[in-house]
Amino acid sequence: MFSASISLIFVGLFWISPLWAQERVVLSQEQRDHVASRGIVRYCVDPDWAPFEYIDAAGEHRGIGADLLRLAAGRVGLTLQVHSTPTWEASLAASQRGDCDLLSLLNRTPARESWLHFTAPLLIDENVIITREDHPYVVSLDRFDGKRLAVPAGTAVEEWVRRDFPRLQLILTQTENEAFQLVSDRRADMTIRSLIVAAYTIRQDGWFNLRISGMQADYVNLLRIGVRRDDPMLHALLDAGVRSISQSEREAIINRHINVVRHEVEVIEKSIFWPLLGVLLVVLLTSGFWILRQRALNQRLSQLNLLLEKAATTDQLTGLNNRARLMLCFEEDSQRALRGGRPYSLALFDIDHFKHVNDSRGHVIGDQVLREVAALMIRNGRGSDRLGRWGGEEFMLLFHDSDVQAAMEAAERIRADVAAHAFSHGEGVTLSVGVAQWKAGESLVQLMDRADKALYRAKQEGRNRVCPEQRHESGR
Ligand code: GH3
Ligand code: MG
Ligand code: MG
Repeated sequence: MFSASISLIFVGLFWISPLWAQERVVLSQEQRDHVASRGIVRYCVDPDWAPFEYIDAAGEHRGIGADLLRLAAGRVGLTLQVHSTPTWEASLAASQRGDCDLLSLLNRTPARESWLHFTAPLLIDENVIITREDHPYVVSLDRFDGKRLAVPAGTAVEEWVRRDFPRLQLILTQTENEAFQLVSDRRADMTIRSLIVAAYTIRQDGWFNLRISGMQADYVNLLRIGVRRDDPMLHALLDAGVRSISQSEREAIINRHINVVRHEVEVIEKSIFWPLLGVLLVVLLTSGFWILRQRALNQRLSQLNLLLEKAATTDQLTGLNNRARLMLCFEEDSQRALRGGRPYSLALFDIDHFKHVNDSRGHVIGDQVLREVAALMIRNGRGSDRLGRWGGEEFMLLFHDSDVQAAMEAAERIRADVAAHAFSHGEGVTLSVGVAQWKAGESLVQLMDRADKALYRAKQEGRNRVCPEQRHESGR
């Protein structure tokens, strides 16, 4: 769902950018002279706002906004240097004091306009309402008097909410993550966050009990560069730089940072957006406007949540379940096996000598091998079993209704298929597999420990084979 939300941002970008994007920057003589004589431009940023912008461990400014800012400044010949601060609030204060000439990426608000002059938008992003998954959809924040809303301090959303919903109880946080944490722990009822950031963070950090429950239609982040008002020449230059960024350049930069969602963005754009617009037009002509609009919104929210969940639980490289998802599967399945008194088993697959593939053929080929192995596992797996990438070059299969013998047979089919497969890089690939059967009450870690020992034996005994757990491994 996280991806879906992002799709909508892209739709916004596609529409709006042609109005202000131009191909070239033509500077006046006065501007050229100014650039030539001007020293380094110092700028302040939000150090903790990935994927928009952040300061990495090496002190470098990174993220979508960082790349866009560098592109805009480079177009007009300006040299930039980041002035690091520990928090966004400190950056705002530094900008007000004049410690830096500009802020890289922020919404225009009346308060900020008292000292900043804003360029055309670098990026357009919607804000969404995030709650725990058991919270009903939020149609309007009007109905939530007294509810606790967590938002990072000093953000535009804080300003807007104070203005529009004074009866909400605001809980100010230091970081973006803290706002999520408070909602997740029930110390706050909701937070309002950028769709791109929400999508990114929920996937990065695995906040599985959160969902997008609503959108505040008029809370759109038009993210711009904010230049100090006493520096009009710098503003004019950067504004020209921003306007010179083409749509495809902007898109390429965004994709570099959140490429996972791009595919789904297109799907949504094509499959949902136009039908939604069609619905909206029809609705305008009928008296059922509000009812239908609400239905469309609910549908859209469900889509967003589905896609967000998918992004959060999918391994980016192979498209298989990721580790977090496998852990959830184990919890569900083992309970089911317990209730039904059915056997349940696990197989751990490890590619043999995979380091050699990387060392001799490079990581791109290594990644391709991982994808091909994943495809073979899907081809051989039973639909109901749970398949995923545990990490690196290790895969996991969880078998319903299977004792260790049945799981061994299924794992052997996969091993043999992989060993016989003609891989695209022209060399053979083999797997070693360890299999263990779940014992009632056992945790995933305990079960894996036994499968891992069996896998170790498969390696010891020459690789390219399936080994079951041994008695002494299973006996406790
Ligand atoms: P063994 O037969 O004992 O398992 O040998 P191995 O070389 O497969 O084992 P080892 O664990 O030493 O190496 C695993 C390698 O997998 C190391 C790491 O560089 C590589 N790897 C992990 N994740 C990825 C990935 O996402 N892409 C690529 N290309 N390589 C990865
Ligand atoms: Mg390994
Ligand atoms: Mg290996």
